[in-house]
Amino acid sequence: MRLLLVTVMAGLVFSVLSTMVRGAFAYMNERDALVDELTQVQDIIQPALAKAIWELDRASVKVHMDSAARLPALGEVVVTILMADTEPERHTRTRPGWSLDASLPALRQPLVYSPYAEATEVVGELAIFANGRELQRRLYREIAIIFATQLLQSLLLAGFVMWMFNRSVTRYVRDVAAHLDALSPETLSRKLLLRNKTIQNDELDQLAGGVNELQRRLGGHLAQQAQYEGELSRHRDNLAELVGERTRELEAANSKLDELSRSDALTGVSNRRHFDECKEVEFRRAQRTQQPLSLVICDIDYFKRFNDTYGHVAGDDCLRRVGVALADCCRRAGDVVARVGGEEFVVLLPGLSVTEAARCAERLRVAVLALDIAHSASDAAPSVTISVGVAGLDAAHMDSFDAFYHCADQALYRAKAGGRNRVECWEGAP
Ligand code: GH3
Ligand code: MG
Ligand code: MG
Repeated sequence: MRLLLVTVMAGLVFSVLSTMVRGAFAYMNERDALVDELTQVQDIIQPALAKAIWELDRASVKVHMDSAARLPALGEVVVTILMADTEPERHTRTRPGWSLDASLPALRQPLVYSPYAEATEVVGELAIFANGRELQRRLYREIAIIFATQLLQSLLLAGFVMWMFNRSVTRYVRDVAAHLDALSPETLSRKLLLRNKTIQNDELDQLAGGVNELQRRLGGHLAQQAQYEGELSRHRDNLAELVGERTRELEAANSKLDELSRSDALTGVSNRRHFDECKEVEFRRAQRTQQPLSLVICDIDYFKRFNDTYGHVAGDDCLRRVGVALADCCRRAGDVVARVGGEEFVVLLPGLSVTEAARCAERLRVAVLALDIAHSASDAAPSVTISVGVAGLDAAHMDSFDAFYHCADQALYRAKAGGRNRVECWEGAP
């Protein structure tokens, strides 16, 4: 549409310019034609007028002048009749609305009459002036024809150019646009074909070739990308599996490490570190809930002598067996059996009163005795024994766990002092 508009506008401008040039020539032609007409009129009426004047036939003079004045090319006809003894007579026929214009053609000629051979007499003068309006009218008509022709030519040319352009370019460009519009990753393999082309290997074919090449490359690129993405996703899955596996291993190792960090390497019961954690928690819980909490401290009797008698390795083995025996006796949830010193074990018994704890302590003592590990150097018994101190938490008098522990330790001291291999309970204020 834009091309059509521009072509029409250009055609219009071209028509105007061309009309101006051709109009100038038309003006000259029309003017020359007018001069010819005036000359013709002059040649025709000159002899008749001269004769009428010679014969003093004024009526004929008038008739000739009237008939000449009716011609559209004439604006004014002036006949001057020369008189022998008076002023010349002047007869005029002027077209209504006509005025003298020096630029318009005019002819003046003496009226000559020849009454007989070789005698001539000037009887007057004939002056005829062109009609400017007639010249204008003819010129306008000529210009209108020129302009109409030029315009028609330009419009036909514009239409033809448009038709040709549409036929050889626009419809193929539309095909390309529709093809590109319908393109998707799935249809990339569909080739662009320009239908019913008469001229081959022109710019449009180059364009179609370019589009097809672009599609081919894009298809290859997408396929490669899909392959990379597939590989990447497989790697990601493998990696996730690997990370999961490593995480599980790490968790198992951590829990093992945690367990190890909380247990005593020799005996397998809890170590001091774990006991320290638990004691604070249970101490606060008992204070808060007003539930009973008891502490039992067990110490192997004459253990230095045992080592001295049976050797350190046997000592370690004795420690291990005692630890297992103690742990076997305290299987309630919440009970904590820990080795807190060389041959010293503690048992934390949440929920047990001192009386119940004393019974438990007695079971511990009997269990160690039942191991029947020979200890010839002991003054307490022929086998390995333990002394046990028991204390129940008295929240009113024990404001810290250390104070509580100290009470149990006091009871242990009493058990040792009382001859060992026995259980003693702490009684009274700390
Ligand atoms: P008491 O009846 O008064 O408790 O006397 P005891 O000999 O048991 O007490 P003492 O504190 O004098 O000696 C404790 C001994 O425990 C000293 C050390 O040889 C021994 N011992 C401490 N830790 C270990 C250990 O891990 N392995 C071995 N085999 N012996 C240990
Ligand atoms: Mg000791
Ligand atoms: Mg001891």
